Amino acid sequence: MAGSLQSASRLAGELRLDCDVVVVGSGAGGAVIATTLAEAGYDVVVLEEGPHVPNTGAMRPSESIRHTWRDGAVTLAVGLGDSPSINVTAGRCLGGSSTLTGGVCFRIPDHVLDGWVKEGLTDLTPEKMDPWFTEVERDVHVEEVPANMRSRGTELFGEGFSKIAAPLKPMRRNTRGCHGCGRCNFGCAHKAKLSVDIAYLPRALAAGARLYTGCLVGKVEFSGTRATGVSGRILDFDTQRPSRPFSVRAKRVVLAAGAMFNPLILAKSGFKNPVLGKHLSLHPSFRVIARFDEPVRGWEGAMQSAYGDFYEKTDGMLFNSVSVPTGVLAATMPGFGTAHGKLRNQLDHLAIFGGMLHDDATGTVRPGLGREPIMTYRSSPRDRARIPVLLRRMASFWFEAGAKEIFLPVFGVPGQTADSLKNFPLEEVHGRQMECSSQHPLGTCQMGVDPQRSVVDDHGRVWGTQGLYLGCGSVMPSSLGVNPQLAIMTMARRTAGLMVGEGR
Ligand SMILES: Cc1cc2nc3c(=O)[nH]c(=O)nc-3n(C[C@H](O)[C@H](O)[C@H](O)COP(=O)(O)OP(=O)(O)OC[C@H]3O[C@@H](n4cnc5c(N)ncnc54)[C@H](O)[C@@H]3O)c2cc1C
Ligand code: SF4
Repeated sequence: MAGSLQSASRLAGELRLDCDVVVVGSGAGGAVIATTLAEAGYDVVVLEEGPHVPNTGAMRPSESIRHTWRDGAVTLAVGLGDSPSINVTAGRCLGGSSTLTGGVCFRIPDHVLDGWVKEGLTDLTPEKMDPWFTEVERDVHVEEVPANMRSRGTELFGEGFSKIAAPLKPMRRNTRGCHGCGRCNFGCAHKAKLSVDIAYLPRALAAGARLYTGCLVGKVEFSGTRATGVSGRILDFDTQRPSRPFSVRAKRVVLAAGAMFNPLILAKSGFKNPVLGKHLSLHPSFRVIARFDEPVRGWEGAMQSAYGDFYEKTDGMLFNSVSVPTGVLAATMPGFGTAHGKLRNQLDHLAIFGGMLHDDATGTVRPGLGREPIMTYRSSPRDRARIPVLLRRMASFWFEAGAKEIFLPVFGVPGQTADSLKNFPLEEVHGRQMECSSQHPLGTCQMGVDPQRSVVDDHGRVWGTQGLYLGCGSVMPSSLGVNPQLAIMTMARRTAGLMVGEGR
């Protein structure tokens, strides 16, 4: 029997439902779990806070941000001490953050899995994870980006990277028929990016799942320690403010609201655990822009086509190609008036690349006054010391490739030449002057083997409860050091497989 996709905001009256499994959140984790369970014959209800926005491919970036990005992309993890504050972006729509990705897919590196195994998660070996990864990679069509889709800027960064470290590697992405238009973060007009709203949710619907958008889940309902369902408020379609109540009774509950919201829902449900909301990892990311004499037209080519992991295992640094809309690029350039105009006129000579830290997971998520969390982030001394090292390395790759000037992600600082950068006191720049972003909140309800040091066991079951599972980025036992969507989908697929008793 085919399921249904409805906006609860458009329905009259209260919403009361019964089902086998209710899944909260329709993003990378939730969609995979809902699909697996629906296809296994369970009666599944999916509740998503955000709206269904099927036509983002036709929108301007600013419209897409307004309709599908959480809080218009201004969520902040406040930097404590000398740590940078970090702009954390996420999706708030059917398909969650999966709909906003650049399509980058990495498996969890073996050395990260080995670390988890050492901590007691003995089923998470690379060999045991392989079949789960293989299945998800097939479902979302992970493929290599051909070298001819690299932008000139990426080629140049690659030249510098090769001279100092090693050749860049081709990115793997969940795409089919990608045209390299570079607007992945704002919606793919060609449906070439196989985000979960394309690759999984239609399957869940075909298998009978009922999907409701506009449902803000407030808490899990319990009978003793057994989860019996969830309750919350339907969001008014126009104002997006909570209005009428809803409730769903279910034999099992899966929270997949992401690393920023799973801890809030659990806390509001009265669940207590010493590490709930702690160990937030963000993969702090920095962009370094370079100006070349030759035109590079950085907006041409696939958004994310190549990466350099030469320093990942040893120094926890990953370099990813990125592209940003020219308007955003112009807005991030230093200076005002004529000085800014001069740079703006050279946009086609500017190339950009990203560098990301495999961080020590030192952030915290706490309930705020309203619906959104309060996030704080205090970099570990090791992470903090690596920021200037990362930036100097990126600058050296650019200069090696012939860049005339580079622009650091430090507010108010003009472009630097190779010579001026030598004397620039980057190591003394305060964190609050740094421009830092994250698209990867993870690990606030970590998986582990000790109920005092983790929130879920190795099946994704919340310690001390029955019938309550977590299935999104919140369960990551540590920072990953690589873009996480494939890892999240795969861990969710494994949890769903264990829920239905699949043997692997
Ligand atoms: C701009 C951008 C680009 C990215 N690019 C890449 C990339 O190229 N490669 C990669 O690997 N990763 C990328 N990521 C990260 C990746 O998208 C996320 O790590 C992943 O989608 C997180 O999955 P999740 O299931 O934990 O959460 P999400 O996918 O964010 O899903 C959580 C869902 O829960 C909903 N929700 C939250 N609270 C509630 C509530 N109370 N009630 C009901 N619903 C709720 C949210 O609206 C959301 O839809 C990117 C992220 C962003 C923002
Ligand atoms: S670059 Fe490819 S995947 Fe991204 S929006 Fe364009 S066609 Fe879609």
